[in-house]
Amino acid sequence: MKTIGLIGGMSWESSVEYYKIINQEVKKKLGGVHSCENLMYSFDFAEIEELQHAGKWDELTKLMINAAKKLEIAGAELILICTNTMHKMAEDIEANINIPLVHIADAVAEEIKKSGLKTVGLLGTKFTMEQDFYRSRIEKKFDIKVIIPNDYERQIVHDIIYNELVVGRIIESSKEEFRKIIKNLELNGAEGVVLGCTEIPLLIKQEDCDIPIFDTMTIHAKAAVEMALK
Ligand code: GLU
Repeated sequence: MKTIGLIGGMSWESSVEYYKIINQEVKKKLGGVHSCENLMYSFDFAEIEELQHAGKWDELTKLMINAAKKLEIAGAELILICTNTMHKMAEDIEANINIPLVHIADAVAEEIKKSGLKTVGLLGTKFTMEQDFYRSRIEKKFDIKVIIPNDYERQIVHDIIYNELVVGRIIESSKEEFRKIIKNLELNGAEGVVLGCTEIPLLIKQEDCDIPIFDTMTIHAKAAVEMALK
């Protein structure tokens, strides 16, 4: 089994889930008392969130590269960035390490392909929904159309992530907001919805939606185990 290196803490609410899923997956695949060999570098999210909202992406890139290098030196044989948003600098990280990076958008796009869907909605931070690094990777590399909510709805999704989900607040009225936004994506042609923020699965489950959901956190964690056991 290869050692998985996780860049976590963004937020720790979802890193905990990653840790749980990779261990459960290894147990499921190898049986007995097997568990996952892994290392985690966990950030103080306050520092990350402040730099994100100040648009200091160069500084963030340095922090992410540093964390990845530390994990590599410590023995990690593959790297996971446990957030969709911070895949903005995935290519810079890859260029600075000698171990593979399991890209969250690739993992999710492969699942969408398998399901045969052609158009999906995307929910995540405003950075993930509005910037190019995530959507265009799925669209260009996998030929899947990605649609996003309108301005007003994007702000709601973003605020719920940063004000509630990353601090572990699961609120029924926010779930309702998400359900409405997902319904609108469906009315606009989405056949499925990408939960493109690793905390959204804490709030939204398949039973809350009429269309298939793609839980990026779970898909990503499982893809890493797949690679670790190859
Ligand atoms: N975990 C979230 C994501 O998947 C948001 C936190 C962050 O900005 O990294 O995008």
